[in-house]
Amino acid sequence: MGLTIAIQKSGRLHDDSIKLLKECGIDIANGVNKLKAEASNFPIEVYFLRDDDIPQYVEDAVADIGIVGENVVYEKNKKVEVVEKLGFGKCRLSIAVSRNEKYDEHSNYLEGKRIATTYPHIVQKYLDEKNINAEIHEISGSVEIAPGIGLAHAICDLVSSGSTLFMNGLKEVETILQSQAVLIKHKGLGAEKQQILDKLLFRFQAVKKAKNNKYILLNAPNENLAEIVSLLPGMKSPTVLPLAETGWSSVHSVLSENEFWDNIERLKAAGAQGILVVPIEKMII
Ligand code: ATP
Ligand code: ZN
Repeated sequence: MGLTIAIQKSGRLHDDSIKLLKECGIDIANGVNKLKAEASNFPIEVYFLRDDDIPQYVEDAVADIGIVGENVVYEKNKKVEVVEKLGFGKCRLSIAVSRNEKYDEHSNYLEGKRIATTYPHIVQKYLDEKNINAEIHEISGSVEIAPGIGLAHAICDLVSSGSTLFMNGLKEVETILQSQAVLIKHKGLGAEKQQILDKLLFRFQAVKKAKNNKYILLNAPNENLAEIVSLLPGMKSPTVLPLAETGWSSVHSVLSENEFWDNIERLKAAGAQGILVVPIEKMII
Protein backbone atom coordinates (compact mmCIF):
# COMPACT_ATOMS: atom_id res chain seq x y z
CA MET A 1 0.00 0.00 0.00
CA GLY A 2 1.27 3.46 -0.90
CA LEU A 3 1.63 6.61 1.15
CA THR A 4 -0.95 9.42 1.12
CA ILE A 5 0.20 13.03 1.33
CA ALA A 6 -2.09 16.01 1.97
CA ILE A 7 -1.11 19.32 0.40
CA GLN A 8 -2.88 22.65 0.08
CA LYS A 9 -5.51 22.63 -2.66
CA SER A 10 -4.86 26.23 -3.66
CA GLY A 11 -3.08 29.11 -1.98
CA ARG A 12 0.42 30.12 -1.06
CA LEU A 13 1.79 26.63 -0.37
CA HIS A 14 0.24 24.80 -3.32
CA ASP A 15 2.73 25.56 -6.08
CA ASP A 16 5.86 25.05 -3.99
CA SER A 17 4.51 21.76 -2.61
CA ILE A 18 3.92 20.44 -6.14
CA LYS A 19 7.29 21.78 -7.24
CA LEU A 20 9.07 19.97 -4.41
CA LEU A 21 7.43 16.67 -5.37
CA LYS A 22 8.38 17.25 -9.02
CA GLU A 23 12.00 18.02 -8.08
CA CYS A 24 11.99 14.68 -6.26
CA GLY A 25 11.08 13.02 -9.54
CA ILE A 26 7.45 12.40 -8.58
CA ASP A 27 4.99 12.98 -11.42
CA ILE A 28 1.44 13.86 -10.50
CA ALA A 29 -1.29 14.78 -12.92
CA ASN A 30 -2.69 17.93 -11.37
CA GLY A 31 -6.25 18.61 -12.44
CA VAL A 32 -7.51 21.94 -11.07
CA ASN A 33 -10.66 20.67 -9.41
CA LYS A 34 -9.38 17.31 -8.39
CA LEU A 35 -9.57 16.06 -4.84
CA LYS A 36 -6.78 13.55 -5.25
CA ALA A 37 -4.18 12.39 -7.72
CA GLU A 38 -1.92 9.38 -7.89
CA ALA A 39 1.77 9.58 -8.81
CA SER A 40 2.65 7.51 -11.84
CA ASN A 41 6.17 6.63 -10.75
CA PHE A 42 6.21 6.58 -6.92
CA PRO A 43 3.86 4.84 -4.45
CA ILE A 44 2.18 8.03 -3.30
CA GLU A 45 -1.30 9.51 -3.59
CA VAL A 46 -1.82 13.27 -3.19
CA TYR A 47 -4.91 14.75 -1.48
CA PHE A 48 -5.68 18.41 -2.12
CA LEU A 49 -7.17 20.02 0.99
CA ARG A 50 -7.57 23.33 2.82
CA ASP A 51 -4.42 23.89 4.83
CA ASP A 52 -6.37 24.29 8.10
CA ASP A 53 -7.71 20.74 7.79
CA ILE A 54 -4.39 19.03 7.11
CA PRO A 55 -3.21 18.50 10.74
CA GLN A 56 -6.52 16.83 11.69
CA TYR A 57 -6.44 14.54 8.65
CA VAL A 58 -2.87 13.52 9.47
CA GLU A 59 -3.72 12.92 13.15
CA ASP A 60 -6.61 10.71 12.04
CA ALA A 61 -4.44 8.89 9.46
CA VAL A 62 -6.79 9.90 6.64
CA ALA A 63 -3.52 11.17 5.15
CA ASP A 64 -0.22 9.64 6.30
CA ILE A 65 1.80 12.81 5.83
CA GLY A 66 1.13 16.44 4.92
CA ILE A 67 2.74 19.72 3.96
CA VAL A 68 1.55 22.71 5.99
CA GLY A 69 2.84 25.91 7.62
CA GLU A 70 4.26 25.67 11.14
CA ASN A 71 1.77 28.40 12.08
CA VAL A 72 -1.10 26.01 11.29
CA VAL A 73 0.61 23.06 13.02
CA TYR A 74 0.99 25.05 16.28
CA GLU A 75 -2.44 26.65 16.11
CA LYS A 76 -4.27 23.37 15.54
CA ASN A 77 -2.09 21.56 18.09
CA LYS A 78 -2.98 18.09 16.77
CA LYS A 79 -1.07 14.90 17.58
CA VAL A 80 1.25 14.86 14.58
CA GLU A 81 5.02 14.75 14.25
CA VAL A 82 7.01 17.44 12.41
CA VAL A 83 9.52 15.54 10.28
CA GLU A 84 11.30 18.14 8.17
CA LYS A 85 11.42 21.88 7.52
CA LEU A 86 10.97 22.49 3.81
CA GLY A 87 12.44 25.96 3.32
CA PHE A 88 9.48 27.62 1.60
CA GLY A 89 6.31 29.44 2.75
CA LYS A 90 8.41 31.57 5.09
CA CYS A 91 6.53 34.17 7.10
CA ARG A 92 6.14 35.36 10.67
CA LEU A 93 3.22 35.71 13.01
CA SER A 94 3.36 39.20 14.47
CA ILE A 95 1.49 41.63 16.66
CA ALA A 96 0.71 44.94 14.98
CA VAL A 97 -0.87 48.14 16.26
CA SER A 98 -1.93 51.40 14.66
CA ARG A 99 1.04 53.41 13.42
CA ASN A 100 0.12 56.30 15.71
CA GLU A 101 0.19 54.24 18.91
CA LYS A 102 3.15 54.49 21.24
CA TYR A 103 4.34 50.94 21.72
CA ASP A 104 7.28 49.95 23.83
CA GLU A 105 7.77 46.29 24.66
CA HIS A 106 8.30 47.06 28.35
CA SER A 107 5.26 49.27 28.69
CA ASN A 108 2.71 46.46 28.92
CA TYR A 109 0.79 48.02 26.05
CA LEU A 110 -1.33 44.92 25.44
CA GLU A 111 -2.59 44.65 29.05
CA GLY A 112 -6.39 44.94 29.03
CA LYS A 113 -6.47 45.46 25.27
CA ARG A 114 -8.37 43.55 22.61
CA ILE A 115 -6.42 41.61 19.95
CA ALA A 116 -8.03 40.41 16.72
CA THR A 117 -6.53 37.27 15.18
CA THR A 118 -7.15 34.02 13.34
CA TYR A 119 -4.59 32.37 15.66
CA PRO A 120 -6.30 32.41 19.11
CA HIS A 121 -4.35 29.48 20.58
CA ILE A 122 -0.89 30.73 19.64
CA VAL A 123 -1.74 34.24 20.84
CA GLN A 124 -3.18 32.95 24.15
CA LYS A 125 0.00 30.94 24.75
CA TYR A 126 2.11 34.02 24.05
CA LEU A 127 0.02 36.15 26.44
CA ASP A 128 0.21 33.48 29.16
CA GLU A 129 4.01 33.28 28.84
CA LYS A 130 4.27 37.05 29.17
CA ASN A 131 1.67 37.21 31.95
CA ILE A 132 -0.48 39.63 29.99
CA ASN A 133 -4.25 39.81 30.39
CA ALA A 134 -5.78 40.73 27.07
CA GLU A 135 -8.94 39.78 25.27
CA ILE A 136 -8.60 37.71 22.10
CA HIS A 137 -11.16 38.36 19.42
CA GLU A 138 -11.12 35.52 16.91
CA ILE A 139 -12.00 36.46 13.34
CA SER A 140 -11.59 34.38 10.21
CA GLY A 141 -10.14 36.87 7.75
CA SER A 142 -9.20 40.48 6.92
CA VAL A 143 -7.66 40.82 10.35
CA GLU A 144 -5.70 43.90 9.28
CA ILE A 145 -8.80 46.09 9.10
CA ALA A 146 -9.85 45.39 12.71
CA PRO A 147 -8.08 48.38 14.38
CA GLY A 148 -9.32 50.79 11.70
CA ILE A 149 -12.97 49.90 12.30
CA GLY A 150 -12.67 49.92 16.07
CA LEU A 151 -12.95 46.16 16.50
CA ALA A 152 -9.62 45.74 18.29
CA HIS A 153 -6.61 47.71 19.56
CA ALA A 154 -4.11 45.31 18.08
CA ILE A 155 -3.96 42.39 15.69
CA CYS A 156 -1.87 39.24 15.40
CA ASP A 157 -1.45 38.06 11.85
CA LEU A 158 0.96 36.54 9.32
CA VAL A 159 3.42 38.95 7.77
CA SER A 160 5.96 38.48 5.03
CA SER A 161 6.88 41.82 3.50
CA GLY A 162 4.81 44.01 5.82
CA SER A 163 3.16 45.85 2.94
CA THR A 164 -0.38 44.79 3.95
CA LEU A 165 0.21 46.19 7.43
CA PHE A 166 1.60 49.39 5.99
CA MET A 167 -1.35 49.88 3.65
CA ASN A 168 -3.69 49.56 6.61
CA GLY A 169 -1.89 52.11 8.75
CA LEU A 170 -0.40 49.50 11.08
CA LYS A 171 3.08 48.83 12.39
CA GLU A 172 4.60 45.50 13.41
CA VAL A 173 5.65 45.59 17.06
CA GLU A 174 6.35 41.99 18.14
CA THR A 175 7.11 38.74 16.31
CA ILE A 176 5.67 35.78 18.13
CA LEU A 177 6.46 32.95 15.70
CA GLN A 178 8.74 32.40 12.69
CA SER A 179 7.12 29.96 10.30
CA GLN A 180 7.84 27.94 7.17
CA ALA A 181 6.28 24.95 5.45
CA VAL A 182 7.01 21.63 7.17
CA LEU A 183 6.36 17.98 6.49
CA ILE A 184 4.22 16.38 9.19
CA LYS A 185 3.44 12.70 9.68
CA HIS A 186 0.91 10.54 11.44
CA LYS A 187 2.33 9.36 14.77
CA GLY A 188 1.72 5.64 14.35
CA LEU A 189 2.88 5.19 10.78
CA GLY A 190 3.31 1.47 9.87
CA ALA A 191 6.70 0.04 8.90
CA GLU A 192 5.88 -0.29 5.22
CA LYS A 193 4.71 3.32 4.96
CA GLN A 194 7.67 4.53 6.98
CA GLN A 195 9.93 2.89 4.39
CA ILE A 196 8.28 4.86 1.60
CA LEU A 197 8.53 8.04 3.70
CA ASP A 198 12.26 7.39 4.23
CA LYS A 199 12.70 7.16 0.46
CA LEU A 200 10.83 10.41 0.01
CA LEU A 201 12.88 12.14 2.73
CA PHE A 202 16.09 10.95 1.09
CA ARG A 203 14.97 12.70 -2.09
CA PHE A 204 13.85 15.86 -0.23
CA GLN A 205 17.28 16.08 1.37
CA ALA A 206 19.12 15.58 -1.94
CA VAL A 207 17.10 18.43 -3.46
CA LYS A 208 17.70 20.67 -0.43
CA LYS A 209 21.47 20.04 -0.42
CA ALA A 210 21.65 20.73 -4.14
CA LYS A 211 19.93 24.09 -3.63
CA ASN A 212 22.57 25.17 -1.11
CA ASN A 213 25.47 24.17 -3.32
CA LYS A 214 26.87 25.27 -6.66
CA TYR A 215 29.11 23.62 -9.21
CA ILE A 216 32.10 25.92 -9.82
CA LEU A 217 34.35 25.81 -12.89
CA LEU A 218 37.29 28.12 -13.46
CA ASN A 219 40.56 28.42 -15.31
CA ALA A 220 43.71 28.63 -13.21
CA PRO A 221 47.31 29.44 -14.06
CA ASN A 222 49.38 26.39 -13.08
CA GLU A 223 51.81 28.36 -10.94
CA ASN A 224 48.95 29.25 -8.56
CA LEU A 225 47.08 25.95 -8.79
CA ALA A 226 47.89 24.85 -5.24
CA GLU A 227 46.51 28.05 -3.75
CA ILE A 228 43.37 28.00 -5.92
CA VAL A 229 42.69 24.35 -5.12
CA SER A 230 43.00 25.12 -1.40
CA LEU A 231 40.24 27.74 -1.78
CA LEU A 232 37.88 25.19 -3.39
CA PRO A 233 37.62 22.26 -0.96
CA GLY A 234 34.83 20.43 -2.84
CA MET A 235 33.04 17.23 -1.85
CA LYS A 236 36.29 15.20 -1.85
CA SER A 237 38.76 17.46 -3.58
CA PRO A 238 38.50 19.51 -6.77
CA THR A 239 38.91 18.01 -10.23
CA VAL A 240 41.88 19.48 -12.12
CA LEU A 241 42.12 19.05 -15.91
CA PRO A 242 44.74 20.49 -18.26
CA LEU A 243 43.58 23.16 -20.69
CA ALA A 244 44.66 23.02 -24.35
CA GLU A 245 46.74 26.15 -23.65
CA THR A 246 49.90 25.14 -21.77
CA GLY A 247 50.38 26.54 -18.29
CA TRP A 248 46.64 26.57 -17.53
CA SER A 249 44.23 24.15 -15.91
CA SER A 250 40.50 23.88 -15.53
CA VAL A 251 39.37 23.40 -11.92
CA HIS A 252 35.91 22.01 -11.02
CA SER A 253 34.44 21.85 -7.55
CA VAL A 254 31.23 21.90 -5.51
CA LEU A 255 30.86 24.62 -2.90
CA SER A 256 28.15 26.17 -0.80
CA GLU A 257 27.19 29.51 -2.25
CA ASN A 258 28.44 31.31 0.89
CA GLU A 259 31.84 29.62 0.71
CA PHE A 260 32.07 30.73 -2.88
CA TRP A 261 31.32 34.39 -2.15
CA ASP A 262 33.71 34.33 0.81
CA ASN A 263 36.55 33.20 -1.45
CA ILE A 264 35.86 35.01 -4.71
CA GLU A 265 38.31 37.87 -4.12
CA ARG A 266 41.13 35.51 -3.18
CA LEU A 267 40.40 33.32 -6.22
CA LYS A 268 40.63 36.34 -8.50
CA ALA A 269 43.78 37.58 -6.77
CA ALA A 270 45.34 34.15 -7.38
CA GLY A 271 44.67 34.57 -11.12
CA ALA A 272 41.49 32.50 -11.55
CA GLN A 273 39.63 33.41 -14.74
CA GLY A 274 36.45 32.46 -16.58
CA ILE A 275 34.66 31.54 -13.35
CA LEU A 276 31.32 29.77 -13.92
CA VAL A 277 28.81 29.04 -11.16
CA VAL A 278 26.26 26.41 -12.17
CA PRO A 279 23.17 25.20 -10.28
CA ILE A 280 23.03 21.56 -9.17
CA GLU A 281 19.80 19.61 -9.52
CA LYS A 282 20.34 16.75 -7.04
CA MET A 283 23.17 16.05 -4.64
CA ILE A 284 23.84 12.76 -2.87
CA ILE A 285 26.81 12.47 -0.56
P1 ATP B 1 -6.82 27.70 2.62
O1 ATP B 1 -7.83 28.01 1.58
O2 ATP B 1 -6.04 26.45 2.27
O3 ATP B 1 -7.35 27.69 4.01
P2 ATP B 1 -5.42 30.11 3.50
O4 ATP B 1 -6.10 31.32 2.94
O5 ATP B 1 -5.63 29.73 4.91
O6 ATP B 1 -5.73 28.87 2.52
P3 ATP B 1 -2.86 30.99 2.41
O7 ATP B 1 -3.02 32.47 2.45
O8 ATP B 1 -2.81 30.31 1.09
O9 ATP B 1 -3.86 30.22 3.39
O10 ATP B 1 -1.51 30.67 3.21
C1 ATP B 1 -1.09 29.35 3.44
C2 ATP B 1 0.16 29.38 4.30
O11 ATP B 1 1.20 30.07 3.61
C3 ATP B 1 0.05 30.12 5.61
O12 ATP B 1 -0.58 29.34 6.60
C4 ATP B 1 1.52 30.37 5.93
O13 ATP B 1 2.10 29.22 6.50
C5 ATP B 1 2.14 30.58 4.56
N1 ATP B 1 2.45 32.02 4.25
C6 ATP B 1 3.64 32.46 3.76
N2 ATP B 1 3.65 33.78 3.61
C7 ATP B 1 2.46 34.24 3.99
C8 ATP B 1 1.87 35.55 4.07
N3 ATP B 1 2.50 36.65 3.72
N4 ATP B 1 0.60 35.64 4.48
C9 ATP B 1 -0.08 34.52 4.81
N5 ATP B 1 0.44 33.27 4.77
C10 ATP B 1 1.70 33.12 4.39
ZN1 ZN C 1 -6.34 28.20 5.65
